[in-house]
Amino acid sequence: MSWHVLGAGSLGSLWACRLFRADVPVQLVLRDPQRLAAYRQKGGLTLVEQGHSQLYPIPASHLQDSAPIERLLLTCKAYDAAEAIAAVADRLAPGAEVLLLQNGLGSQDEVAQLLPGRRCLPASSTEGAFRDGDWRVVFAGQGHTWIGDPLDATPPGWLNDLQRSQIPHTWSPDILSRLWRKLALNCAINPLTVLHDCRNGELVRYHEQIDALCGELAQLLSGCGQAEAATDLQQDVWRVIEATAANYSSMYQDVAAGRRTEISYLLGYACAAAERAEVQLPQLKALHLRLQEHLDGHGLPRY
Ligand code: NAP
Repeated sequence: MSWHVLGAGSLGSLWACRLFRADVPVQLVLRDPQRLAAYRQKGGLTLVEQGHSQLYPIPASHLQDSAPIERLLLTCKAYDAAEAIAAVADRLAPGAEVLLLQNGLGSQDEVAQLLPGRRCLPASSTEGAFRDGDWRVVFAGQGHTWIGDPLDATPPGWLNDLQRSQIPHTWSPDILSRLWRKLALNCAINPLTVLHDCRNGELVRYHEQIDALCGELAQLLSGCGQAEAATDLQQDVWRVIEATAANYSSMYQDVAAGRRTEISYLLGYACAAAERAEVQLPQLKALHLRLQEHLDGHGLPRY
C-alpha cells in the first residue's frame, strides 16, 4: 500500500524522502500538470542533511489523477488543508487513513468534516525543515512527532513504516491534549516575537507579559476541558524560550519572508474557543488584535 503525500513543501518533502529511501512505497500528489512537469524536470526531491544533499526520484502524480488513495499524508499549511483534501476526497478509498501534520487547531476538524467515515489522525511535530529552492528541503532540526486518533486509541499498523524510515514518533493516546499544549506554547511565544521583532530568547525582556498570557492560556485550557494540558504551562513556556533562545519562531519567519501566517489556527482559534467557553481573556484578545494590525501593516492576511 502506497503513501501519498499531499503538500510537497518542507515537512511533506522531508517525510517523503525518508519513506522513499527506506523502500516504503510513496508518491507525491502535486497541484497540477505544470507543477508535475517542473518536478519531473528536476528528477526528484533533494534532501539536504548535515550539509550533504541527496536526490530522491520519488514518483509523483497530480491532483486530477484518478488512482485511489489508501493512505494520505497531508502536509500543507493549516489554511490550505480543507481545500486540498476536498480536491482528493473522491479518490480516498473507503478504508483510507489520513495523517494530518498541520500545526495549531481547527484544520483537523475542517478536514474530518469533509471525510465522514475515514480515519483522520492528527499529529504534532517538533521537527524542523525549510525549502532552500524548488523541490529542495533542508532538514534543519531533529525532533519528534506524536500521532493519535481522538476517536480510536488503536495504533495503526503503518507505524512500522515510520519506524523503518527512522522517523522518530510516538503513538499518543491523548493527541488532543498535546495539540492544545502546543497551541498554548505557540500563542505565548510566537506572536510576541513578531510584535517585538526578536528571537525567542529575547522574550525574557517581556517576562510579565508572558506570565500574564500563560495565566490566561491555562484558564483557556481548563475551560475547554484540557486541564491536563494546562499543568505547569508557564514553566514549560520558559523552558522552551530558553531551549530555543537563538531561534526565530515559525510565525516570525513567515512574516519576515512575507508569507501568510497560520494565525487563525493558533491565536485566532484560541480566542474563538475562549468565546465559546465563555472565558474572559483580555490579554489574549488584545494580543490577537495587535497581531492582526501588525499583519495588516505588512500587507499580509489577518486570518
Ligand atoms: P510549506 O513548506 O509551505 O509546504 C506546504 C506545501 O503544500 C507547499 O508545497 C504547497 O504547494 C502545498 N499545497 C498547498 N495547497 C495545496 C493543494 N491544494 N494541492 C497540492 N499542494 C498544496 O509548509 P510546511 O512548512 O511544510 O508546513 C506544513 C504544516 O506543517 C504547517 O501546518 C506547519 O505549521 C507544520 N509544521 C511545519 C514544520 C516545519 O519545520 N516546516 C514543523 C512542524 C510543523 P506550493 O508550494 O505550490 O504552494
